[in-house]
Amino acid sequence: MGKICLDDMLGYGHDHFVWITPRYNLINASPFGHKAVLFEPAMEHNGTAEQKARWLPLARSGKIMGTYAQTELGQGSFVRGIETTATFDRDTDEFVIHSSTVSSAKFWPAGLGFSTTHGTVMARLIVGDKDHGPHLFVVQLRSIDDGKPIPGIKMGDVGLKLGYNEADNGFATFKNVHAPRSHMLMAHSQVSRNGTYTKDPLRAKLSYLVMLLVRGKMPGVFTVQLAQATTIATRYSVVREQDLAVRWPWVHGYFWLTGGTTFEGENYVLWQQVGRHLLKQLDRFQDGESIEPQMQYLTNSKDYNAACTASGEQFLDAEVQLSIYRNRAHRLIVKAHTAIRSSGRTLAEAWNEHMMLHISASRAHIEYLVLKSFGDTIASLPDTTSSNLGTVLSHVCSLFALSTVINPRSVDALSFLETNGTQAPYLNCVQLDTIRALVNDLLDKLLPDAIALTDAWDFSDTSLCSTLGMYNGDVYGNMMRWVEQLPINQKVWENDGVQEGWKDWVDPILKQEMEAKAKL
Ligand SMILES: Cc1cc2nc3c(=O)[nH]c(=O)nc-3n(C[C@H](O)[C@H](O)[C@H](O)COP(=O)(O)OP(=O)(O)OC[C@H]3O[C@@H](n4cnc5c(N)ncnc54)[C@H](O)[C@@H]3O)c2cc1C
Repeated sequence: MGKICLDDMLGYGHDHFVWITPRYNLINASPFGHKAVLFEPAMEHNGTAEQKARWLPLARSGKIMGTYAQTELGQGSFVRGIETTATFDRDTDEFVIHSSTVSSAKFWPAGLGFSTTHGTVMARLIVGDKDHGPHLFVVQLRSIDDGKPIPGIKMGDVGLKLGYNEADNGFATFKNVHAPRSHMLMAHSQVSRNGTYTKDPLRAKLSYLVMLLVRGKMPGVFTVQLAQATTIATRYSVVREQDLAVRWPWVHGYFWLTGGTTFEGENYVLWQQVGRHLLKQLDRFQDGESIEPQMQYLTNSKDYNAACTASGEQFLDAEVQLSIYRNRAHRLIVKAHTAIRSSGRTLAEAWNEHMMLHISASRAHIEYLVLKSFGDTIASLPDTTSSNLGTVLSHVCSLFALSTVINPRSVDALSFLETNGTQAPYLNCVQLDTIRALVNDLLDKLLPDAIALTDAWDFSDTSLCSTLGMYNGDVYGNMMRWVEQLPINQKVWENDGVQEGWKDWVDPILKQEMEAKAKL
């Protein structure tokens, strides 16, 4: 589909498929999407007039396929940390592009895996003994004649991703690869024939602009994807009969075609089961019957609605933390119970009408139970436990308790603040600031123990199945060894580095053998 879109754009001279819209995201998620999205803007914003006149017509007509190779195994967001070097060789008037470390391998750029012939490669400019930091260089990566990697360049595909698998994100390492001096993009900084470096200090940072341009487009992309997910969910919800409560353990699946995760019962179903139980417990209490021990807090009608009076380090006290969670659960259960029992509608109708409320109540109760059992476990550690361990675990417990209150990603954190009607909030702004400060402090305290805490689980590398999380910490070496043994790369290297499908899919574009089309 990407190739069809590209043929159409080249044949009819338009750019409708370049940017990603609901209908046109097909080309972006293909080996042909990156050239106009990244390579051409990089050239437009960083090339001199002469460089643009040389490269842009080639790129726009498909005679070269360009990518943008900035990210490395060891650095993504931190562009100043890029390690690939471009060392100026005054004798030959060339730059020598070199991957100086394992972590300097270019990793992720779209097109490296299969389709690209050229890249704007971000590398540290070295002139003499001076390192001028990251600059952009046009580097030929594959031969236009036969698709073989240029000598000194090792390229491959990064393998399966969680999504976006139609795009050929790849990796590349450079071993003393030569590029003429004219291949440094020199709109904002220059290296002269005799090795003099000059730059426009106000414009030099513009070389970082390209990724920002793409990121500026991202909200539009994600809006479309969220809209697609919403469309699928909405359509399916009017087709599917919601009798899952009976069958949930057996009927759900998890496969690509559904486009979603419903593993072991979608959690709205499970929350409702908890909610039903909570409301029944409150019914029992109101009828004067006994209720289970972990819900005894429902019997305390005195202070669940009063504002919290704790301050400062009192928020580190386990009982204070528990009271915050207990009171929140109590308030929400009573609210949900009142709404459902007094609705005047059938139980099923009332249940659906107040679904969000009783799901909040269920979540609040479960979070209370988690905190309580965490605290109980720490309190019941044997006397032989070292006091250091007890302290570290208390910090972890407090971190869970307090960060759930203030973390912006915490679900329904607002309900920690609510009381009834017009009363003051349960936690006020000063208390929330105190909790934020305590969370920061806990993070500092826990940092030295973070690795020990995870090592304590004693997971084997095999069970983690993660190149990033292996015990030896050799993240980049592990990653490169992993991608190098992928069948897709092994097969290509056995074939002199030429990708299967190159002749059918890329060659005709480069050689301009597309189906003839009338120009618009
Ligand atoms: C599908 C896909 C396509 C891509 N295509 C290209 C491409 O064509 N060309 C290219 O060059 N690259 C490409 N990339 C790479 C992409 O640009 C990087 O993933 C991105 O720059 C982030 O870098 P990173 O993955 O190394 O994460 P990191 O920068 O290591 O970030 C990891 C985590 O740390 C956090 N973090 C980072 N810095 C800070 C900070 N200062 N403070 C607090 N938190 C921080 C981040 O938010 C993130 O959660 C692609 C990536 C993907 C997934």
